[in-house]
Amino acid sequence: MTTTKFVLPESDIPTTWYNVVPDLPKGLPPMLHPGTREPITEADLAPLFASGLIAQEFSTERDVEIPGPVLDIYRQWRPSPLIRARRLERDLGTPARIYFKYEGVSPAGSHKPNTAVPQAYYSKLDGVRRLTTETGAGQWGSSLSMACAYFDLECDVFMVRVSYDQKPYRRGLMETFGATVTASPSDRTEAGRAVLAADPDSTGSLGLAISEAVEAAMQSGGSARYALGSVLNLVLMHQTIIGQEALLQLELAGDYPDVVVGAAGGGSNFAGLALPFLRRQFEGGPTVRFLAAEPSSCPSLTQGSYDYDFGDTAGLTPLAKMHTLGHDFRPPAIHAGGLRYHGMAPIVSALREVDLIEARAVPQTACFEAGVRFARSEGIVPAPESSHAVRVAIDEALRCRETGEEKAILFSLSGHGHFDMQAYIDYFAGKLTD
Ligand SMILES: *Cc1c(COP(=O)(O)O)cnc(C)c1O
Repeated sequence: MTTTKFVLPESDIPTTWYNVVPDLPKGLPPMLHPGTREPITEADLAPLFASGLIAQEFSTERDVEIPGPVLDIYRQWRPSPLIRARRLERDLGTPARIYFKYEGVSPAGSHKPNTAVPQAYYSKLDGVRRLTTETGAGQWGSSLSMACAYFDLECDVFMVRVSYDQKPYRRGLMETFGATVTASPSDRTEAGRAVLAADPDSTGSLGLAISEAVEAAMQSGGSARYALGSVLNLVLMHQTIIGQEALLQLELAGDYPDVVVGAAGGGSNFAGLALPFLRRQFEGGPTVRFLAAEPSSCPSLTQGSYDYDFGDTAGLTPLAKMHTLGHDFRPPAIHAGGLRYHGMAPIVSALREVDLIEARAVPQTACFEAGVRFARSEGIVPAPESSHAVRVAIDEALRCRETGEEKAILFSLSGHGHFDMQAYIDYFAGKLTD
C-alpha cells in the first residue's frame, strides 16, 4: 500500500520551538528605537508586548520550551498532516515527489494560530485585558480573535479597508470569536485620521493598520498590548512547530526534501517550515534549496533594499534591518492580502543576504492558475497567499519533468481559501491583473 497522508500522534508534537538567532552566520542587526535610533532595549518594548514575548524576541537560546497550556491548544488541530501530492504529480507528469504540509486544518484555516495562541497566553499571564492588532485578508485577525477567546481577552482588530470590503465573511468570523473589527484607515487614531484627511477613499495598507493598532495599544493606559502576526523573531520561532513536525513526517515517508518552498508575506510560514531543515543543514545534514515565493506586485525580498526601515507607515514601530520597499509603499489591491507588506522578517532577510535562501516573485494570475490546478487534483482550494507557494512548487516539478530529475519538493500549504472564493470568482471572470 502506498501512503498519502503522513500523520503523527499527538504525543509526537514538538515540545520546544527552534530559535535560529544563535545559528545565524552573521548574527542579527539590532532593532533601533524610532526616536533615538539607538538599539532598542527590552524596557522600550514593554508598552507594546507582554514580558514573556519580549524575552523571546531577544532570546539567544536555541530551544525554547512551549508552555503546557499552549500545547494543550495546539492539540486541537496539531500535528497537522503532511500529504504526498500523488494526484498532482500524476497530473503534472513529473518524476518529482511533491509533499505539502497543510496548515489549513487549524480552526482559523491557516498557520497563524501557531503564534496567536502563545501571544495571547503570555499577554494573559501579564494581566493584559485587550490585544490590538491589524489584519490584511483577515487570516491573522481571525487567528488572534480565536486565541483571545480561548484566554478570555478582548481583541481589537484594525482591518485593511480593501479587505474589510472584499472579505465580509472573515470579519464575521472575527466577530463570532468576540472581536471588535474596525476598517483602517479609521478615525480612531492620529495615523488613520491623517490618511483619511489626505485621501478619504484610501483602501488602506497593512503598514497603516499596524500604525493604528500600535497607537491604540499605546493610548490604552497599560490595559492593552499589541500583537503582530509575522515578521518578529518570536513569531518565526513559534512557527517552527511546522518544520519540526515535517521533519518527523518525512522520516516516516523515508524521504528528505531537495527543495523547500513557502509563500512569504512577512516570512513566518516560510521560515517556520524552512528553519528546522536549515538547522539540520547547519549540523551537517543535506543541503536544501529554500525558496521564498512572493507576489511580483509586492516584491520586498527580490526587489527591496536591505536597509533599516519602520514596520509601519507612520513610523511608530522600531526600525528593523530588512528587505523593504519603503514603509510608505502602497501595494496594489491584490487578493493575497496576507502578502501585501512592504518589509520582510529580519531573520529571512539576513538569510537572503548570505544566500542561504532564494526568493522568487510570481504574478497573481499565474498563482491562481496554479491554485486551480492544485484544487482539481488534490481537492483543497489554496488561500491566495498559499497559491504563491503552489506556483513555485509546480514550476519546480515541471522543471523536473524536463530534466528527468527525481527531486523531493516540500511546500507549505499555509491555508485554505474557503473565505477567498470571491478572488477565485474574479479570476474566472478574467478580472484580475498582475
Ligand atoms: C498571512 C498568511 C501568509 C503570509 O504570512 P507569513 O508571515 O509570510 O507566513 C501566507 N499564507 C497564509 C494562508 C496567510 O494567512
